Amino acid sequence: MNNKLYGNLIFELSQPGRKGYSLPKNRFGNYEVPAELCRKEEAALPECDELTVVRHYTNLSHNNFGVDDGFYPLGSCTMKYNPKLNEEVAALPQFQNLHPLQPAATVKGATAVIALTERALCSLTGLAHFTFKPFAGAHGELTGLMVIDNYHRKRGDTLRKKVIVPDSAHGTNPASAAVCGLEVVEVKSTADGTVDIDDLRRICSLCGNTIAAMMMTNPNTLGLFERQIPEIARLIHDCGGLMYYDGANLNPMLGACRPGDMGFDVMHINLHKTFSTPHGGGGPGSGPVGVREGLDDCFPEVSPFHGNFAVILRAYAYILSLGRDYIKEVGPLATLNANYIKESLKDVYELPIDASADTGEKSMAQRGLCKHEFVFDGLKDKSTGVTTMDVAKRLLDYGYHAPTIYFPLLFHESLMIEPTESESKETIDGFIQVMRKIAEEAKTDPELVKTAPHLTPIGRVDDVLAAKHPIVTYKQLKNDTE
Ligand SMILES: *Cc1c(COP(=O)(O)O)cnc(C)c1O
Repeated sequence: MNNKLYGNLIFELSQPGRKGYSLPKNRFGNYEVPAELCRKEEAALPECDELTVVRHYTNLSHNNFGVDDGFYPLGSCTMKYNPKLNEEVAALPQFQNLHPLQPAATVKGATAVIALTERALCSLTGLAHFTFKPFAGAHGELTGLMVIDNYHRKRGDTLRKKVIVPDSAHGTNPASAAVCGLEVVEVKSTADGTVDIDDLRRICSLCGNTIAAMMMTNPNTLGLFERQIPEIARLIHDCGGLMYYDGANLNPMLGACRPGDMGFDVMHINLHKTFSTPHGGGGPGSGPVGVREGLDDCFPEVSPFHGNFAVILRAYAYILSLGRDYIKEVGPLATLNANYIKESLKDVYELPIDASADTGEKSMAQRGLCKHEFVFDGLKDKSTGVTTMDVAKRLLDYGYHAPTIYFPLLFHESLMIEPTESESKETIDGFIQVMRKIAEEAKTDPELVKTAPHLTPIGRVDDVLAAKHPIVTYKQLKNDTE
């Protein structure tokens, strides 16, 4: 609903003297507040009746969009359904009312949950130990790189400061390496979108004894399975470096293959993505870091206590409710949904890397498949001038969240789609239909698409102005003298 009255700020709904509260009688007698602590003038608080407040915030909440509202194919973010059962478990007062400083003997249930979740993660990843301290994926990357840095230091191997990162990597990878005081060396991708092993060999021979680690995502950010991991791991290990696995999106791999078996030494997992906790908009997350045997004495202290315990609880509830058998269905279903969309749209959207055109691959099972996500390079017909940004904005008019756009940086018009395993065929068919409709509109009425969205409370935002001249505070009109 786009009702002007309720779209305003709560301050603009204020009427002098109107009240929606009554304070209880003072039960403590008079207490003199020291003069220097008193306000010089009245606080500019909104004065509203209860119903106005209820309607205001209820209507604001309707402007929000979440997985519970509709399809949310935001590539790389794994916006799967978060089962309500997880929320019930996380809300149990026995867990919710715990205090981190309680004596250990009184929190045995909570520590058992952490230990059991660790055991589940070890069996899913093939690694030996996990720390739950990191608060999200990027924090996990930093923690994992600190483990690697500690490992080299302990051995007196202090020259190792280089981290090899593929050019297709998530932006947090090079950022985490830089924050950890390490130097990023980029390895190229081949035309088929996977790590260029010849370029990697060149880097290894050039900087062998200064390589601390290689960071990889598999399936990579293009949704493609890196088939050469054993060879890559051998090259890096032969140089004395360690292999880091960015397991933010473990989704397509769950129960199918394990980073530990592929030769990775250290990894993080985004519990909030793979194991279903509501995320986006800044948190809360959990990015536990796993290591192979022998590296657990290198864990740094990166946060107090055990990180975001409620996210660990939700992840454990999710793992238990799927169980050993059904957790194996997650990857194939997410993969099926992504491939179904890709194949249904690739005649109107540009598929720059088409795994099905990979004639070098002999196995039919591997041929033609992306994993849980894929990337289009905008519309196929570039003559209309309609960009990926326009398509993403127009999708909002049809009630869909936009895919990830302009990432990865390998293409000019990246449109990265990740449907997840949660969605029904009907929902996905609806999305395909709308994506085709937008492609048609781009030809018949390009202005309509270029000026979208038309039906959202706020129209097209001027990105440059918003970035260069952000207005992040509200000024009271009556005090607004500037
Ligand atoms: C989401 C993501 C991250 C970052 O995780 P946050 O929890 O947002 O910090 C890192 N790497 C990849 C591949 C991701 O998809």
